[in-house]
Amino acid sequence: MRFQYLIRGLRIFTTTRTTATLPQSFSRIPFPISRTTALKAAPAIPFLGSLFGSTAKAENSNMSYPDQRSEEEWRAVLSPEQFRILREKGTERPYSGEYDGQYPSQGVYTCAGCNAPLYKASHKFKSGCGWPAYFDSIPGAVTRHTDSSFGMERTEIVCSNCGGHLGHVFKGEGYPTPTDERHCVNSVSLKFTEDEDKAKSKA
Ligand SMILES: [Zn+2]
Repeated sequence: MRFQYLIRGLRIFTTTRTTATLPQSFSRIPFPISRTTALKAAPAIPFLGSLFGSTAKAENSNMSYPDQRSEEEWRAVLSPEQFRILREKGTERPYSGEYDGQYPSQGVYTCAGCNAPLYKASHKFKSGCGWPAYFDSIPGAVTRHTDSSFGMERTEIVCSNCGGHLGHVFKGEGYPTPTDERHCVNSVSLKFTEDEDKAKSKA
């Protein structure tokens, strides 16, 4: 009996201690932690996004592309959708592009902004990803940048002549192509010309 009483007493003691300390510990410890975490986490995502975004922009604007047209000049020659993708690094909806699913036997894809030849028809392959895919580009036509937006590290590809955003390049995905690289390009960023010589003279 004495032992049971002792246990009961201990239980009460423990329960009392627990109920007495829990509200304190809840109000003292978890709140400052969660508040700090919230304060840190909340601005972290947009802040990091804008930080990396501005870094990428700065890097791009510092690059001296031969075609140095101003934003106003680009707006004058591009459609709103072309401007959004080429100049503001937008992305077209998957499976929506004009050149997704087009596999010509010859011809060249030029930059929709400045007409520089970027890819040959022979570079194009069926990836099933929803955007035109190329395993290689015309030498020097495409410039790569590290793109750290959206919490990912990707390789952005732009037109070497005007800096227009094309898409991203992915490596080592296992496609049976000579490079195992996939240039995932927005159709909006491209113009297809069957006559390669005509494309060259336009550039
Ligand atoms: Zn271009």
